[in-house]
This record gives sequence, C-alpha cells and structure tokens, in this order.
Amino acid sequence: MAKSLSTSAGNDLPVVVIAGRPNVGKSTLFNRLVGRRQALVADTPGVTRDRKEAQATLRGRRVRLIDTAGLEEAAAESLAGRMRASSELAVAHADLVLFCVDARAGITPADEHFAAWLRRQGRPVLLIANKAEGRGGAATALEAYALGLGSPLAVSAEHGEGLADLMGEIADRLPPKEEDAPAPAASDAAEPDEEDERPQGPLRMAIVGRPNAGKSTLLNRLLGEERMITGPEPGLTRDSISVLLHDEHGPIQLVDTAGLRRRARIDEALEKMSVSASIEALKMAEIVVLVLDATLGVQEQDLQIARLIEREGRCCVLALNKWDAVDDRAAARQAIVDRIEASLAQMRGIPVVSFSALTGAGVQKLLPVVRRAYAIWNKRISTGELNRWFEMMLERHNPPLVNGRRLKLRYMTQAKARPPTFVLFGTRAEQLPEDYQRYLVNGLRETFDLPGTPIRLQLRGTR
Ligand code: GDP
Ligand code: GDP
Repeated sequence: MAKSLSTSAGNDLPVVVIAGRPNVGKSTLFNRLVGRRQALVADTPGVTRDRKEAQATLRGRRVRLIDTAGLEEAAAESLAGRMRASSELAVAHADLVLFCVDARAGITPADEHFAAWLRRQGRPVLLIANKAEGRGGAATALEAYALGLGSPLAVSAEHGEGLADLMGEIADRLPPKEEDAPAPAASDAAEPDEEDERPQGPLRMAIVGRPNAGKSTLLNRLLGEERMITGPEPGLTRDSISVLLHDEHGPIQLVDTAGLRRRARIDEALEKMSVSASIEALKMAEIVVLVLDATLGVQEQDLQIARLIEREGRCCVLALNKWDAVDDRAAARQAIVDRIEASLAQMRGIPVVSFSALTGAGVQKLLPVVRRAYAIWNKRISTGELNRWFEMMLERHNPPLVNGRRLKLRYMTQAKARPPTFVLFGTRAEQLPEDYQRYLVNGLRETFDLPGTPIRLQLRGTR
C-alpha cells in the first residue's frame, strides 16, 4: 500500500546489540529474534541487508538489533583485540547489550575478559547463557553470576527455548516508549507530534571518506583545537570512541573515531575497506562529514559512500580537504559539487566546506556548517503551510493520468524529521509516477529550504 522513494533505516529505534566471544551462538540468536518473516520485511535497505543488523519486534517493541558476530574478521590479531574492535562501536551506542556465553562450554577467560570490559562501558547488559537446552548448562549458570552482570537467563537459541522470556526481559529493559517510530497508519500520520523525536544527548557525527582523504588529520585537528572530554574509563586517550567536541551549541560526539584510527594503522591497500568502514560509522551517526581529497576531484568511491549516506537518510556535509594544494579553487569546487549533484539527486544543495586539515586553515568553518545542516535535517513544516504549498504545486502541474484516469491527490503531512519525511494521501496515490514525485520533492526542497538533506516521500492510497 505504501510506497516511498526510498526507505529509512529506523534511526530512531532503540538499539539492541548482541555481543560475546565467537561461537557462543550470537548469530543463531540474532536470527531467532529477527525471525525469517520479520527479516524479510525489515525496513533496512541496501547496506544492512547482510543481516548484521535488522529491525525486530520484541513484545510489540520495534528495535534495531545488531549482531556483532562476523564483524571480527575486519580487525586486529588477538582474540581479545578482535572482540573489542568488533564490539566497541556497537556497544557504545547500545540501549541494551545482550551478552552471550556458552552454557555448555562454561565460562572461559575470554568471557571474563569481555565481561570486565563490558562492565566498564556502563551500558545496560542482559546476561544470556545460551545452548542451555534441556537442563544443560546449570553449572555454567552459577559460574556466570561471577561475571558481575546480574543473573544469567538460560536460553537455547538453536532449539527455541526460553525465547519468550528473553523477549520479555529485553522489552522491560528498553528506554521508554516515546522513542518508537511513528505508527504507519494513515490516521496517525495526520499531524506530526512535535515531541516525538527531539534529539537527545550530543549530536552524533561521523567522519568518513576514502583512504588518504585526510580523515585522521582532520580528526586530530578537531581534537587539537577543542577541549576534549573522554569516556567513562578514566585516562582514555584519543583512541577512545567517546570523543566529545564542544562548540557554543553543545556537545558533538565523534562516532567511530577508534575505528578510524585503528584502520589508519592497517595498510589500507584494500580500497573497499573504507566503504565498509564508512557503513559502520554512518549507521551510528546522525550527521556525516564526507571528506574528499580536493586535489583528486570526485572519485567513484566517493560517490559510493555518498550514495550510502543518502540511502541511510543521514544528513551530510561535504568537506573539501587539502585546499592548500588546490590551484584553481573556484573551478575545483564547481567541478566537485556538479559531479555530486549530478550523481545524487538528494544531495542537491549539499553544504560544502573547504579547508586544509594539515594547516588548519578553514577547519573552523566545519562545525557551524554541521550545525546548520543538522537543523535542516531536523526541520518540521506545519501541515497548513505544507498544504497551501501543495495546492499551488497541483495547480501548476496537474497530477498525471495513470491508465487514463487522473490521480486525486488530497493532502500532505510531514510524518517525521531526521530525515524530513512526508506522506502524501490520495486516491491511488501509490501509483504516482516517479517524475511527479521528483517534482514534489524538488519543490519541497526549494520552498521550505531543505538543501542537501535526503527527503522521503511516502505515498498512501486512500479510498
Ligand atoms: P556466533 O559465532 O556467536 O555468532 O555463533 P553461531 O550463532 O554461529 O553459533 C555457533 C555454533 O553454536 C553453531 O554451530 C550453532 O549451531 C551452535 N548453537 C547456537 N545456539 C545453540 C544452542 O542453543 N544450542 C546448541 N547446542 N548449539 C547452538
Ligand atoms: P585518512 O586515510 O583519510 O585518515 O588520511 P590521513 O589523515 O592519514 O591523510 C592522508 C595524507 O594526506 C597524509 O599524508 C596527510 O598528511 C595528507 N593530508 C591530510 N590533510 C591534508 C591537507 O589538508 N593538505 C595536504 N596537502 N595534505 C593533507
């Protein structure tokens, strides 16, 4: 019934992360909690279809479920290092961590190590003793208390035992309900609820881009010039993931800076890695700073990352780095912006900052631009205003005929922000051709001053 230009990734849902050493059954549990049917309908486009992340409904609560299994391949050598690397980013943003141990194998040193680390992260944890089918693993349950993460819940992911209890326990531990995504029913979308998705806590920003674009240099520059506050572990250095910047509007959390530094150390001959690294970072971010090496112009890989940002509905700022090394600046800027806008319709009007991370010249422009872009991404337009505009648009261009009949488009409302998402109601509205959708989206962008942000248009047929 509903159709949209593109879909949102459930950015506002509570995040539940499954963590634990390899082979305890994280993936099995993930699949159980998501369920085959739900996995198929999960509204997680493109990059997340690899099933490390999916939306799930647990006791009526919609959540983003993240499986840290399989992330291990990407990083360091030692087991402990691998587990940490794969989990720290996900855990830092979790509303709840499901920490799994293997009830049959008993508690291992790796479990203890991981648990100790987890306790220091200060996130809510639910301890799960998996592979406890039948009466297996009773001894482990006792040992597991000693991990200091509360009493373990015995389940068998493979045999489906204890899962109903588990879902209840998860639902009970989630933050209060108002963070749920708005209900899709047409009657509920009539007027946006101003309170439903007010940003809470620091703005979450990711710095992404191809290898050698200058991300690490930029990060160091930002850290050098700003007062830095570190995360819950005292004495954390710049390798911490909880890097906070401050500007006059408040805190900005840099997500995945640990990953950034970690990857910078590995020889990044594999170009594709920076794309997968970017995916992880931008899932966690609200605003994404896409760093380009301006001396090279726009490369295919830059466009690939930009497409991901667009598809995930994130707010984006284009950072033209190495500006010190660019000769004809006006031409370089024009060429880059033209290429981006030509390739990505939703990036029209994208905010652009140019600077030299190396010398620092111009870097101070970045955060103000980020703030402005963030405000646009959060913008709300009243239904009255929207429909006055909508009527004008309909008069200017009649909706097209579909199968010889004119579509009756009735009204529009903004269902949510972050990114701006509009619902259009009308008889057979879901059949509205793409070019008319684009006409409306471009009109929204111009009239309501929404440059550079992805705009979602959902079509709802009414009778
Ligand atoms: P991961 O590495 O933590 O993601 O673990 P997997 O989900 O890949 O599971 C590792 C192994 O444990 C697989 O062979 C699973 O079939 C098995 N396994 C998972 N859950 C259970 C369970 O509840 N009971 C038993 N006996 N085996 C399980
Ligand atoms: P990353 O792989 O994106 O983290 O890139 P790095 O920050 O490691 O930078 C890659 C290379 O570009 C390094 O040699 C930097 O010194 C250089 N670099 C970074 N920023 C600038 C800049 O603003 N101007 C110039 N000329 N070089 C830069």
